[in-house]
Amino acid sequence: MTMSIEQLKADGWMKEANYIAGEWVGADDGRTYAVENPATEIWIGDVPWVGAAETRRAIDAAQSAFVSWSQTTAAERAARLHQMAQIVYDNLDTFATMLTLEQGKPLAEARAEMKLGADYIQWFAEEARRINGEIVPSPWKDRQILVTREPVGVVGAISPWNFPFSMLSRKVAPALAAGCTIVIKPSEFTPFCGLLYGILAEEAGVPAGVVNVVTGDGAAVGGELTSNAKVRKITFTGSTRVGKLLYRQSADTMKKLSMELGGNAPTIVFDDADLDLAVEQAIAGKFRNSGQTCVCTNRFYVQDGIYDEFARRLTERVKQMKVGNGFEAGVEQGPLINHAAVKKVEAHVEDAKARGGRILTGGQRHALGATFFEPTVIADVTPDMLIAHEETFGPVAALFRFRHEQEGIDAANATEFGLAAYFFTRDLARTFRVARAIESGMIGINAGVITTPEAPFGGVKDSGIGREGSSHGIEDYLHIKYLSLGGL
Ligand code: NAD
Repeated sequence: MTMSIEQLKADGWMKEANYIAGEWVGADDGRTYAVENPATEIWIGDVPWVGAAETRRAIDAAQSAFVSWSQTTAAERAARLHQMAQIVYDNLDTFATMLTLEQGKPLAEARAEMKLGADYIQWFAEEARRINGEIVPSPWKDRQILVTREPVGVVGAISPWNFPFSMLSRKVAPALAAGCTIVIKPSEFTPFCGLLYGILAEEAGVPAGVVNVVTGDGAAVGGELTSNAKVRKITFTGSTRVGKLLYRQSADTMKKLSMELGGNAPTIVFDDADLDLAVEQAIAGKFRNSGQTCVCTNRFYVQDGIYDEFARRLTERVKQMKVGNGFEAGVEQGPLINHAAVKKVEAHVEDAKARGGRILTGGQRHALGATFFEPTVIADVTPDMLIAHEETFGPVAALFRFRHEQEGIDAANATEFGLAAYFFTRDLARTFRVARAIESGMIGINAGVITTPEAPFGGVKDSGIGREGSSHGIEDYLHIKYLSLGGL
């Protein structure tokens, strides 16, 4: 490990307190809960377990801070965000250590996530200065029509554990860039990367109350964030089940909503694909973060003519993957987040085996025990298996066989999700045909890893609403106001 837990705490990067109204505080009743390293299941820290009362105070602080923050110039907000990004760039190794400690992913992946988060913050620092209005040709001779964009107000942000830093960067940065203030609730499994936003705000001179971070009881904090009328927008990344709950809970106060939810991504490999590229990209897209990625492939549809060869090459490569603690050199796959995650993966594999799936490699808990699972490839997967319908969220590549193009498309679309999809082909006409036919918010064509601040990230169907990143990612934090200026 590059830096010890004690050092991270002594240097002030790993905070065991909540950040409300510019103060580092505990729960009202002093309650805390323990955070563990998923690779070792050893305690790494205690953070406050707060509920509705503390959340209400954080919302009030954000509401007060909104009055002046929303009046700052775009250049001022951009400067603060640039500073926040710079602190991350300057401390990539330190922050990556903290991420691997609480989340488990290999250190190189943690570093990449931290850098991606800083890239998003930088992107929205730049976007802050492009929140333009419009002057529209008027139907009246004596009137001017003006359209302005204004910050929506206090934002409630709830985030998952799989990308605990970068998922929040696409919420915090556009909110601040737009002139909004925010109350953050990170996942209970990875609170330290969420609390880091309090530290970054403080260090970058963002005024007290603009950024607040509370940790603890998801239902209680989420209940307050969604029912409190002062919160004007909820931005959520997590499971479809919780997303739908928050959607319903937000109805009475008519909030703006962004929902980045679950996926069940298909990858279609056509007979004419560049197989080396398809295998290399399949590995990157599937096994990153131990397969705990909302956009990672859950279902591989491989055309008849290359099915056996693709399966052989993929299996060969997967067999070489080194599994272990994310701090060990050369480790490509870390642990899963907890025992529940291992059980779900195991259940999917067992179900596939029972229904005729053929294990080509892996297929069981790893010899390291605890939260480790073997990188797995299963052939002869069929639509009746659990893995065809549910997000496995683990290191399992499931290979389905198809014959004709339309069959592959129909199978890929046979899900209530529509976040990411991928396909591999060298045929130009097919590229456009298939891209048009796939029901998905994002499509990787001959590419397995597609996330970047420049592009709009988000899904259709049960995968959510709204887009994060790109020039569109700030829209959800803005209201449009129409001014009809008469008497000219
Ligand atoms: P989750 O839905 O269990 O938890 C997400 C967050 O919601 C956590 O902070 C949790 O504490 C909170 N929460 C749980 N119950 C709540 C409640 N009743 N009220 C309010 N908040 C509550 O999801 P997870 O297990 O942390 O993350 C994995 C899921 O996230 C997967 O389904 C994955 O596909 C999805 N995900 C989607 C994207 C995307 O951009 N679409 C990105 C990453 C992860």
